Amino acid sequence: MKAIPPAKRLGRIPPYLFVEIDKAKRALRERGIDLVDLGIGDPDLPTFPEIVSAMQTACADPATHRYPLGRGEASLRSAFARWYEARYGVSLDPEREVLVLIGTKEGLGHLPLAVLDEGRVALVPDPGYPVYQAASWLAGGEVVHVPLEPELGFKPDLERLPRKAFEAAQLLFLNYPNNPTGASADPALFQLAVNLAREHGFLVVNDASYAEVLFEGSRLSLLQSGGAREVGIEFHSLSKTFNMTGWRAGFAIGNADALTALADVKSNLDSGVFTAIQRACEAALALPESRVRGQVEVYRRRRDVLVDGLWKAGWRVPRPRATFYVWAKVPTAEDSQAFAARLLNDARVVVTPGVGFGPSGEGYVRMALTAPEERIVEAVDRIAGIL
Ligand code: PMP
Repeated sequence: MKAIPPAKRLGRIPPYLFVEIDKAKRALRERGIDLVDLGIGDPDLPTFPEIVSAMQTACADPATHRYPLGRGEASLRSAFARWYEARYGVSLDPEREVLVLIGTKEGLGHLPLAVLDEGRVALVPDPGYPVYQAASWLAGGEVVHVPLEPELGFKPDLERLPRKAFEAAQLLFLNYPNNPTGASADPALFQLAVNLAREHGFLVVNDASYAEVLFEGSRLSLLQSGGAREVGIEFHSLSKTFNMTGWRAGFAIGNADALTALADVKSNLDSGVFTAIQRACEAALALPESRVRGQVEVYRRRRDVLVDGLWKAGWRVPRPRATFYVWAKVPTAEDSQAFAARLLNDARVVVTPGVGFGPSGEGYVRMALTAPEERIVEAVDRIAGIL
């Protein structure tokens, strides 16, 4: 029998980073080996119980059992607009400026189909969350990497990018707070990106999936910048804020035309988020802010245990201002994959090699703070043993 070849466009996309690491992890676990997993950033803490009980009630109501269709429940879009305004001081029209997503990954994945023409350019941060480039390629676009400069606190130097890059661009992705570097947002960068987008006529997107995991500084949103609504959209996720990664819920907000284009793509490809989950999301957004802050303090303690412990062991890793990731230079002459492989095989600690986030990630590894404090202590001991 003849094999069915995959479409050529898939050939441009490297295997999804975590799939490879998962394979190696599984092989060790099958041999009964205990691993401390600081690899994928998937909160180990459970979803807040109020959200679970709202879901249980909503599930029992047959009105939630039908196709959800549309841009999401009106009451959820209004609840998100209130939640967002209370935090960022920006008011949104829930009808036109809020769209419910099946997680931000889904929205980011579909966005290039909505706003990027074949052969046109998406400017993508390097290192960066792999979905921006994969989605741009799948839509037939070209990807130009925009390096995040360590000396600029892992911000892109947009002033120094050749103007040609902006002229070809239809889309610029930013991601603050940043995965994988742990950098927090910067209002000057947001304003500069908006100004350039207005001048050159491209859409600027900030992926704010980690907006609430913030240790230092104040919350910032792209849409606080002057003129942002004309050229910008922002993605928010409930995954990290409320430990809901498995539930699949997020929001796109901002420029109404871009959201309409995204909603048009989605209406052809998916049928929205289960209505019971949307009701549970309303319960999440109604939780007092102190609950989320309490959880950020858990991550802060873990961050300090990891960073202080590794410094003591002689590895000078930076202390992130935001997100639950520590982005550290490889302390040896190995490349990021060789070092991560040695940590896995000799120290039994899973980290993510930086090169998986783009060429500028070479020379770094990412450690996620999504393991209990005592396991992080254990990881530090194990890593210290092989440095
Ligand atoms: N953006 C970034 C930068 C992420 O790291 C992730 C998840 N790892 C996502 C988006 C996807 O989040 P969601 O669960 O909302 O799809």
